[in-house]
Amino acid sequence: MAKRIAFIGLGNMGSGMAANLVAHGHKVEAFDLDTAALGRAKLAGCGVHTSINAALDSADVVVTMLPDGKIVRSVYKNDVLKWAPRDALFIDCSTIDVASAHAVIAMAGTHGHPMVDAPVSGGITAAKNGTLTFMVGGSDAAFAAAQPILSAMGAAVVHAGGDGAGQAAKICNNMLLGATMVATSEAFAMAEKLGLDLQAFYDISSKSSGQSWSMTSYCPVPGVGPVTPADHDYEGGFTSALMLKDLRLAMAAAAESGANVPMGHRAAELYEAFVSAGNAGKDFSAIIKTLRK
Ligand code: NAD
Repeated sequence: MAKRIAFIGLGNMGSGMAANLVAHGHKVEAFDLDTAALGRAKLAGCGVHTSINAALDSADVVVTMLPDGKIVRSVYKNDVLKWAPRDALFIDCSTIDVASAHAVIAMAGTHGHPMVDAPVSGGITAAKNGTLTFMVGGSDAAFAAAQPILSAMGAAVVHAGGDGAGQAAKICNNMLLGATMVATSEAFAMAEKLGLDLQAFYDISSKSSGQSWSMTSYCPVPGVGPVTPADHDYEGGFTSALMLKDLRLAMAAAAESGANVPMGHRAAELYEAFVSAGNAGKDFSAIIKTLRK
């Protein structure tokens, strides 16, 4: 059933997601601090608002896609809880720390709002094409209410568990991704030093026990495997800055929970150094350049 959806945060990801909600017949009311983002939302068929309360007015559902936990906490506390109709469903798709996800869902609950944390896997292209994977935390009832909305923006919607479980799954997944990208990159770099042809190594390892998504779907070597950001000088794709953001969130969660994550820790150190060296905007697979020297 078509819903009236307030969409807050129409940046690289949110703009494509909102366009898919419109394409599925929903009435989307957009708010962003950035007027260029609002311009793109208008072209995609959203109603656009320069005040957040106008976007929230009469909303059945509120979707947020914002940069970090501090901003998410502030937007819900100062605006969404103040202006959204009493029974509106809240869906936060931002990648944020688990503690902030718990805090915001608890706040929503005390005001009677069902809410899920629903971070995504897949980048800007998946957001545009409606092929994101959503990992969702929240009660069974909140998940059931959110599922049809999320399905309009993604190819897979998985209920990870209770409040905050979506964020927990996201940072565990991306810690694994960071570590496998470094490991895959160093294996290619060593294969090269040992005189192996990199295409031959790919043909063997992609069908052997060293295979991973970082190798077969996102190969860091230009000209080897499927077309990836490596074939476009590491432009586009998932930036090293965002990988570092997720690794920092993972390290914070590991410290809080007492998890032992030596590989994740090393991956975080390597991406800290890579980003500090001026590579924030490069795709995260560009880390291979530091290993192939
Ligand atoms: P972005 O910076 O392009 O977009 C964020 C938008 O939020 C911007 O348009 C900004 O103006 C707006 N914003 C900031 N503060 C606001 C406020 N108080 N009120 C209203 N709007 C506000 O970021 P993005 O790449 O779209 O990422 C959004 C989220 O998705 C992040 O949490 C990120 O970690 C996560 N994510 C991104 C990717 C990716 O490939 N870009 C992939 C997976 C997850």
